[in-house]
Amino acid sequence: MIVIGTEEYDLTNFNQDLCQCPNCGKRGVFVRKYANSFQINSHPIYSKGVGYSTICRKCNSAFQKGDDRFVDAYIDQEMAALKKPFWLNIGVLLFPLGILGFIAFITILSK
Ligand SMILES: [Zn+2]
Repeated sequence: MIVIGTEEYDLTNFNQDLCQCPNCGKRGVFVRKYANSFQINSHPIYSKGVGYSTICRKCNSAFQKGDDRFVDAYIDQEMAALKKPFWLNIGVLLFPLGILGFIAFITILSK
């Protein structure tokens, strides 16, 4: 049985320097980063893109781009530092190899 779907992978850097919150004034704003991946049978095939959400740990306020220029600069800095892991796209190579291997296996068995 083949199960096709998407999965969200958390790419948050938990060692990031926190930004000052425009709501409560404490250093608690952090950027949660994630990548969505298309997958077959829970194996990532290719990455559909990255996303983020920005939340203050102290007052639980959520921010978007355009809310505060310091938070905007912080989001840009954190997203620029994001490196997508290579294994999110490795299925593009491994999945066709698996199909070719299966076809070769069936061909050898049928002789
Ligand atoms: Zn806050």
